[in-house]
Amino acid sequence: MHRDGTDPENVQLEDILCDFCSEAAWAAGSPCIEGHRGSVICGKCLSVAFVSIVTCKVEEQEAECVMCLEKRTTPVWKGLREEAIICRRCVKQSSGVLQKSPDYDWSKPS
Ligand SMILES: [Zn+2]
Ligand SMILES: [Zn+2]
Repeated sequence: MHRDGTDPENVQLEDILCDFCSEAAWAAGSPCIEGHRGSVICGKCLSVAFVSIVTCKVEEQEAECVMCLEKRTTPVWKGLREEAIICRRCVKQSSGVLQKSPDYDWSKPS
């Protein structure tokens, strides 16, 4: 998502925020994954989401995922913001993308 007051004609890296923790996603230097409609999840949130999903620490519920915009009943992970919800499929897909990033060990939450 974009920071409040972002000029749509002139979006800066610092204006792109992680939908899940509201921190500057790209500016921190970690890889991020973009979803639909400008949604972004940063590597930090993705690693937490991935661990929660693979260890089944998440509940199955009907929810609309901000990354793929699909509404389904599935295990979901929620970020700090109320509307920030990512489905299991997106977590797995996104983590597959980051695994190809050689110099970032996203799988170990700091
Ligand atoms: Zn984040
Ligand atoms: Zn999804």
